[in-house]
Amino acid sequence: MRIVLLGAPGSGKGTQAQRLVERAGIPQISTGDLLRAAVARGSELGRQAREAMEGGRLVDDSLVLGMIRERLGEPDTRRGFILDGFPRNLAQAHALERLLEALQQPLDAVVQLEVDYRELVRRISGRRTCADCGRVFNMLTSPPAAGELCPKTAAPHRLTQRPDDNEATVTERLRVYDEKTRPLIDFYRARGLLRVIDAEGHVDEVTRRLARALGAPLRAPRRTRGAGTVKAAASKRASAGAARARSGRTARRKRPSLRSSRSKAAAKTARVARGKSRRPGSSGRGRLKGKRR
Ligand code: ADP
Repeated sequence: MRIVLLGAPGSGKGTQAQRLVERAGIPQISTGDLLRAAVARGSELGRQAREAMEGGRLVDDSLVLGMIRERLGEPDTRRGFILDGFPRNLAQAHALERLLEALQQPLDAVVQLEVDYRELVRRISGRRTCADCGRVFNMLTSPPAAGELCPKTAAPHRLTQRPDDNEATVTERLRVYDEKTRPLIDFYRARGLLRVIDAEGHVDEVTRRLARALGAPLRAPRRTRGAGTVKAAASKRASAGAARARSGRTARRKRPSLRSSRSKAAAKTARVARGKSRRPGSSGRGRLKGKRR
């Protein structure tokens, strides 16, 4: 399964990508993580990327594309990959298309995670990452449980805030998303690859919507099953999902009954999965799903 997760900063691409890694056994490729690692190493690439990242702007296409070309050449990507945070503008999307064509590994699906603007700001400002295990928390919505220990150190999580998660930079990142990344929605819709999901609500529910949009029935995370079994199941699911994604169908899923008690939420999920985020006839909302205030 070769997929791109598309969505504004704070839409949960990284969190959901990590969950897909556990369930599908394919690597997550996050250009943000790769760039942060380059900055932390103090490499030449990191030095060149740093200023743009701290200002909330995009890093030069040539640097990012070089990094992606190298990463997609690694053997663990042969069974598939989840691109998170790349492509981020049309030039990158065209370059990715050419690169995957040359590798004879076209994309199976692009999933756009939709989240209201105010919710994005709330999520980003509360975001903290454990410096040891890398797990992402939100101090407002999903803080570590009382007494929870880091699996790497067996001590409490060491929570850190990303330097670009401050208020001024967040506004610029959201503006850049609107201007540069949002056009990719039409780019991938025109290629029949786009799936849209409502990415608000509980993180497990969003994972279920993502799995449905990919046509991949949910399996328990990898650690609870034998790796071989999961790998085989993942590749079977991936080809079924890919076939469905190419044919434009989403998951094996009943259309929601409008009479059911959860009908409103279910209907919304089904609507976004079909690529229509708004109710027919409803007025246009702010560009990042919700209204800007
Ligand atoms: P978020 O999606 O929350 O903004 P990321 O970790 O994906 O966070 O990216 C952090 C920063 O890294 C971006 O603001 C940008 O400066 C840089 N970056 C990440 N991916 C790309 C890319 N594909 N092209 C250019 N710059 C990128």
